[in-house]
Amino acid sequence: MATNSDCLFCKIASGAIPVTRLFEDEQLLAFPDINPQAPVHVLIIPKQHVGSLAHTTANEAGLLGHLLASGAEVAQQQGLVKGYRLVINTGHDGGQTVDHLHLHLLGGRHMTWPPG
Ligand code: 5GP
Ligand code: ZN
Repeated sequence: MATNSDCLFCKIASGAIPVTRLFEDEQLLAFPDINPQAPVHVLIIPKQHVGSLAHTTANEAGLLGHLLASGAEVAQQQGLVKGYRLVINTGHDGGQTVDHLHLHLLGGRHMTWPPG
């Protein structure tokens, strides 16, 4: 599996940096965000290194579908029956700060629109 030894989320995926593993399968890992922006704030990442959504192609369609489906599954696991938000910040203008693809699951409060 492709990993990047300099990448924070690759270190989390490999277990080199321990986190609470809320959901895990062969392809994905979910863990709490260290700086939560809502009562529930979970990050879901591919275990393999993917720099961002902009680094994906149709070849990753299966992985991306699985990522989104897992977002819904973790939301259900977290009891977010009133709704939630899934976000993928991408690149500089998207506000991405960690260069390893991740899906934010935010819930437990009412979200406003537009985001900042
Ligand atoms: P981005 O801004 O790239 O969309 O999201 C990166 C997220 O990673 C941020 O919400 C930030 O709080 C979170 N984060 C950064 N470093 C760590 C860490 O070491 N552990 C965890 N659990 N989350 C982190
Ligand atoms: Zn990585």
